[in-house]
Amino acid sequence: MQGLNGIEKIALGIFPTPLHPLKRLSDLLGIDLWIKRDDLTGVALGGNKVRKLEYLLAEARQQGAQLVFTTGGAQSNHAMLTAACAGKLGMKAVLILKKRGVTERKGNLVLNHLMGTEVRFMDTDDYGDIYAEMDRVGTASGVPYYKIPCGGSNALGTLGYVDCAREISMQGETFDHLVCAEGSGGTMAGLALGAGLYLGNTLVHGMMVDREPFDRITPRLMGEAAALLGKKPEVSGKDFHLLDVCGPGYAIPSHEGNEALRMMAENEGIFLDPVYTGKAFGGLVKMVREGIIPKGARVLFLHSGGAGGLFALDAES
Ligand SMILES: *Cc1c(COP(=O)(O)O)cnc(C)c1O
Repeated sequence: MQGLNGIEKIALGIFPTPLHPLKRLSDLLGIDLWIKRDDLTGVALGGNKVRKLEYLLAEARQQGAQLVFTTGGAQSNHAMLTAACAGKLGMKAVLILKKRGVTERKGNLVLNHLMGTEVRFMDTDDYGDIYAEMDRVGTASGVPYYKIPCGGSNALGTLGYVDCAREISMQGETFDHLVCAEGSGGTMAGLALGAGLYLGNTLVHGMMVDREPFDRITPRLMGEAAALLGKKPEVSGKDFHLLDVCGPGYAIPSHEGNEALRMMAENEGIFLDPVYTGKAFGGLVKMVREGIIPKGARVLFLHSGGAGGLFALDAES
């Protein structure tokens, strides 16, 4: 099937995902708050990586890959979804994960185990080491292989979120603000680029849950994805807004994030996750309290998934 600009893509998820108002939270916050349910993308426990994988695995299949490598932290939602989607296509995934965070069989590692996915841990903080290991293992396997970067955040993967912006525009609602988590950058970059193309005046806010230079990563990915679409890769700093919601560190729950997670669960019966969407929603609440998002504004929150991470939490958090 053809995606944006005729670029090959494979249908993996169930789209469009629901878009609906959050009545009680709107009243509590004094804004017109809606949610885009990319926690319901239809593969595994849902999540944003499915949209990226529709493009990435299409390229893998075109190249005849039998093995698909990817990486992330021990509890990576992206790695788990890569395994799930690769399995649907009859490809085998090998996950080379950083030996950081919860490495016992909890959360997403349970799901990887249930799918029979090959998981290897590497004791390194450098993704360069991991990509080199992928080449070693891939070459030794003797079959064609395909490497997907951390979070699926390259130009091709970013197109999945340009698609999402287009999908929102076709759902017939308009928003002043769109808020999403930013972890490796592709989701935010795709939405920011897509907002410019399809959503008129919607300002996209990236809630940074990691300490990477997203002020450079975001426009770079936007430019590279725009080039794939045959558009001018010119991005200005006014095209998006970033906020640091990382707290104590990547994949370490924050007080604000956990509070926001509980607020969403109590009032709307929707579960966010402690690593990405809880912190992102905490950022939304903060922007409303500080007037960055004014009262009465129409605001869309992207629920990007992460349910697996809930079950890797310590009981106290
Ligand atoms: C990966 C992920 C994100 C962040 O998306 P990026 O494109 O990596 O920035 C947000 N939420 C969840 C649940 C994720 O798994």
